[in-house]
Amino acid sequence: MKAHSGMHLQFFGAAGTVTGSCHMIDTGRHRIILDCGLFQGSRKEAFRKNRNLAFDPKSIDAVVLSHAHIDHSGNLPQLVKDGFRGRIICTRATESLCRYMLMDSAHIQVKDVQYVNKRRKRQGESLFEPLYTPEDAEKCLSLFEGHDYGEWVDVTEDIRVRFEDAGHILGSASCHLDIDDRGTTKRLVFSGDVGRYDRVILKDPVPPKEADIFICESTYGNRFHGPTVDVQQKICDVIRMAEENNGKLLMPAFSVGRTQMLVYHLNQLATQGKIRDLAVFVDSPLSANVTSVFRRHPECFDQEALALVHDNNDPFGFEKLTYIREVEASKAIAGINGVSYVLISASGMCEAGRVLHHLKHVAPSERNVILVTGFMAPHTLGRRIVEKVDKIRVFGEDFPLRAQVATISGLSAHADREELLEYVSHFRKNPKHTFLVHGEEEQQQPFAEALRERGFPNVRIPVEGQKFEL
Ligand SMILES: [Zn+2]
Repeated sequence: MKAHSGMHLQFFGAAGTVTGSCHMIDTGRHRIILDCGLFQGSRKEAFRKNRNLAFDPKSIDAVVLSHAHIDHSGNLPQLVKDGFRGRIICTRATESLCRYMLMDSAHIQVKDVQYVNKRRKRQGESLFEPLYTPEDAEKCLSLFEGHDYGEWVDVTEDIRVRFEDAGHILGSASCHLDIDDRGTTKRLVFSGDVGRYDRVILKDPVPPKEADIFICESTYGNRFHGPTVDVQQKICDVIRMAEENNGKLLMPAFSVGRTQMLVYHLNQLATQGKIRDLAVFVDSPLSANVTSVFRRHPECFDQEALALVHDNNDPFGFEKLTYIREVEASKAIAGINGVSYVLISASGMCEAGRVLHHLKHVAPSERNVILVTGFMAPHTLGRRIVEKVDKIRVFGEDFPLRAQVATISGLSAHADREELLEYVSHFRKNPKHTFLVHGEEEQQQPFAEALRERGFPNVRIPVEGQKFEL
């Protein structure tokens, strides 16, 4: 048995940044980590960080996972590859989502390395191994353990966890942990990613009421998303734009969350008879799989979505909607001419995936419309489309961008400053220690200030690797 010193926390990822979420709790007797996400960003840095875990995976007893997003779950297969053999504890919907998302991530890892190795081989350099393979992901998935919200789960002999809905994506949770620290129980709340209030499909975030130690995300700690937009009306308007010219409407969208939200709205428009003869395609195997996970987890739905299910309506299916998995069927869409249709395809930022093939056909005609509903990071093809550049480069070839570009903004799955402040306003007594993670400095500093003004003592912004004795 290890020497029984005091409890400490150490922050390995999403410290002063927004990816690679990973935080360690060490009780002196046991060690667990909260999340184990992929670093995303510059290729070189991500490569180094994802491959070199800053701790020994064999020394970790268990993982508590807040949600399935890859920046929170995506390095778990690497953790297992490097020797972790404990349990991975999460909600049931998170487990179901990870089955598809980690396999998809593994395929991307393999493909990425093949691409890099082609060049390295030509230049006579040594070849890389993929970060992890589908086999590694399978092995990792066998350690997953899904639980209901609100249920206490023993993690180690001195730590137990309860998940509360975080309202961010399907299955997302804040993790409430009771930790036995030398005879006294300390409550630690890890917010995970906090979602929005009054959104379709998902429930609102459940705010924590009790914590001695609070680890809180701060992605938009200093930003307002702006007034709520009538998404359904906007989608309807954009459909009319396309229909006026018998044009096509292309919506690039992430497979998890955004795609289902768009389908949910289209479903309602179809039910109301507003888009009666319009064919709708969702072209992405991952999106189709993830939507099937949504259907299996109505426990995550809000009352409105649940009411649809109880009326025997599928919120994610209607007569004119087709989910496309096969490549041949995907290619066939390009051949449909002279009639309008709606096409939702991944990836969300137009960096990879089938959406690229569709852009080649949709972008060059002024009759078509591209609807952007998500944040487009700088230097992505999606960003260039929003900026309405004259031509876009797809698979090494230039295509004119003549299609109309429409945007619906403010649809982030992350709480903004106001929503975060609402989320933290329910504590009966403010936590003794608050750590802000998952945010860039310009979001974190003002949010830390706002918390101090509200009487939160010891608000800190850990840097990568920083350790705190508690
Ligand atoms: Zn997230």
